[in-house]
Amino acid sequence: MTAAASARQILTNLHEVMASRMHAQGKLDRVVDIVGESLTSEVCSIYLLREGSLELFATRGLNKSAVHVTRMAIGEGLTGVIADNVETLNLAEAKAHPDFQYRPETGEEKFHSFAGVPIVYRERAVGVLCVQHVEPRRYEEVEIEALQTTAMVLSELIANAELVDEEEARGLIEGRTGQQTVSGLTLVTGLAVGHAVYHQPRVQITQVVAEDTEAERQRVYRAFDKMREQIDNLTGQAEFGVGGEHEEVLQTYKMFAYDEGWSRRINEAIDSGLTAEAAIERVQQHTRMRMREIDDPLLADRMHDLEDLANRLLRIVSGQLGTAASQGLRRDTILIARNLGPAELLEYDRRRLKGVILEEGSLTAHVVIVARAMGVPVLGRANGIRGIIRDGDEVLLDASAATATIRPSATVAEAFEARFAKSREKQAAYAELRDVEPFTRCGTRIQVMMNAGLRDDISALAMTGADGVGLFRTEFQFLVSATLPQRERQTRLYRDVLDAAGDKPVIFRTVDIGGDKSVPYLASDIADKDENPAMGWRALRLALTREGLMKAQARALLEASGGRSLYVMFPMVSEPWEFDAAKKVFDEQLAFLRSKKKQLPEAIHYGAMLEVPALAEVLDLLLPKLSFLSVGTNDLTQFLFAADRANPKLAERYDWLSIPILRFLRRVMQSSVGSGVDMAVCGEMGGRRLEALALLGIGFRRLSITPAAVGPIKELVRKVDLAELSEAVTGWLLDPSVNLREELSAWAAARDIETD
Ligand code: PEP
Ligand code: MG
Repeated sequence: MTAAASARQILTNLHEVMASRMHAQGKLDRVVDIVGESLTSEVCSIYLLREGSLELFATRGLNKSAVHVTRMAIGEGLTGVIADNVETLNLAEAKAHPDFQYRPETGEEKFHSFAGVPIVYRERAVGVLCVQHVEPRRYEEVEIEALQTTAMVLSELIANAELVDEEEARGLIEGRTGQQTVSGLTLVTGLAVGHAVYHQPRVQITQVVAEDTEAERQRVYRAFDKMREQIDNLTGQAEFGVGGEHEEVLQTYKMFAYDEGWSRRINEAIDSGLTAEAAIERVQQHTRMRMREIDDPLLADRMHDLEDLANRLLRIVSGQLGTAASQGLRRDTILIARNLGPAELLEYDRRRLKGVILEEGSLTAHVVIVARAMGVPVLGRANGIRGIIRDGDEVLLDASAATATIRPSATVAEAFEARFAKSREKQAAYAELRDVEPFTRCGTRIQVMMNAGLRDDISALAMTGADGVGLFRTEFQFLVSATLPQRERQTRLYRDVLDAAGDKPVIFRTVDIGGDKSVPYLASDIADKDENPAMGWRALRLALTREGLMKAQARALLEASGGRSLYVMFPMVSEPWEFDAAKKVFDEQLAFLRSKKKQLPEAIHYGAMLEVPALAEVLDLLLPKLSFLSVGTNDLTQFLFAADRANPKLAERYDWLSIPILRFLRRVMQSSVGSGVDMAVCGEMGGRRLEALALLGIGFRRLSITPAAVGPIKELVRKVDLAELSEAVTGWLLDPSVNLREELSAWAAARDIETD
């Protein structure tokens, strides 16, 4: 029998049981037999949620006396983990799993392999269906799919037979009425107040088994056509600028919408006897499981786009069309979603959409990039929000502090409102500094530039009045792309950026990919994972080996800057020869363009990043070749301290205000004296007030920082007397026992300089 035929057989058998007049317990007993026989599995069991824990309701293969006796709490044992995470487990050796718990009354000690799927009802796991084998083996995909299908049928049975108290299933929500706080991860900073709106009331699948397979197939075909049409329309809307990053994001999206593999898998599920809705859902469940297994954040982001589309397809096919966006937002809204696709976010009315809370989400997710451009704060990784937030609840979102308060008490709401008003006032005050040049009290002009990575970031130049872009992270285009950005696309982006920046300089940093910033399409090269990615094969090291990559980027930058000035900066230079090699690639491309009589840049300024401490020892050799040097303190600090900047256990070690770092930076600054090279800092350090003070104190006159910090740093600059500051900092640096954070805070406070 083919896999589809055997799947159809299970479904037919299940269908007969469901249609029979048997009572619910009898049906469950039959189901475990059907599944056990079809998968030739020694054990098949069903656990259902009752009184807050998972109770063994039916089994074939375990001791029957354990039925209605064995109970597992949510999160306890393998079944508890499946229900808690609403995820599938497929284990060759159950005992090897850290959450395995042995229950003697079941007699399960002889079984090795284990696979289980959640039984989901209204997005909540209300039970678990699992199989066990004596022989240790992983279950085949078709077997897992059969389990998932059976779980869907069971959820239909559970709903009809009221086997699980719906109130109980919703208990977590209903039981919680008072103020609650959730925490997560800051994805886009900012504060917002609004009422919770669920992005998507989930489509309820009411029929799992198809009456007419051909009719289901036609329904899916029509739904696919409609969905593709919608996506084409969205990509056609040039709201975020043609050629911008958003277009690329949507192009990726479009690629998924037209993905033949996806529609084929849905078709196969229909072949096995499922309705269109159940087929889409089952394929989606499968995708989710794979996504968890792969555990690659970048790929996971792309998978979220696919989930977004699957939900859209499900809504079209079921006729349950309304997302919150299509129903329109009636008041200030904090949007709640498990995840959100970029296209879905764009459908919301921007005047009403104040903030977003995602259960998932990551910094590189497309939706986050779009939200940043829309100026909407986003809190991500807010685990368990579905159990806490009800539709319509008031939410105070503090994405900067990575928290949200739900149903706030009056005092908390008042305090938040006061903070919010203050932050709005401050924003307004900073905006007023836009056209004010940052001169210190003693009359020195400090250059306050900003960091960017996307075309839309450039609008912040005008909004903040920054002096230019001191670091344009060109790898962002690579990170948001599903495929290697071709030279023409790179050229288009760079030209757009230069157009948008007008007279202000933009320093393009050549790609810093590899290591932890790996991209799927370069994966074959980087696959043999570096043990220490930050110190691995990345940035210039990678670019110089993959010469095609570097050449394409060099040409794109040179062409895009025809008739204007080009500023190029190379990341992670460790020795001067690397700079020479990189520059040579540019020289060759320049010669080529000259031979083709193309318009050349009016001037080219080359620079390097100082991120690897070794480079500081040979600045005498390097500086004569440069027009500027920018210190990347994010990487430099972790290398100086040998402390991974991403490791929370080392957070204390990673202090920019430590004497060794500042002495090091001062030495770098001193060795540049007389070289004529512009010295800058472009790491996060420069955007924090105390740290910026320290940098000014040791002689830096150019900072490139996150756009939101431009206003605050300009304000600070205007209150500083450099001679006074420099004298103080020099004094502190002589004494390694000094606590610089305390000294600087006191110094600033005495001069009415805000530092928090
Ligand atoms: C740095 O390392 O300080 C830097 C600016 O580069 P990135 O943060 O992109 O590594
Ligand atoms: Mg760096």
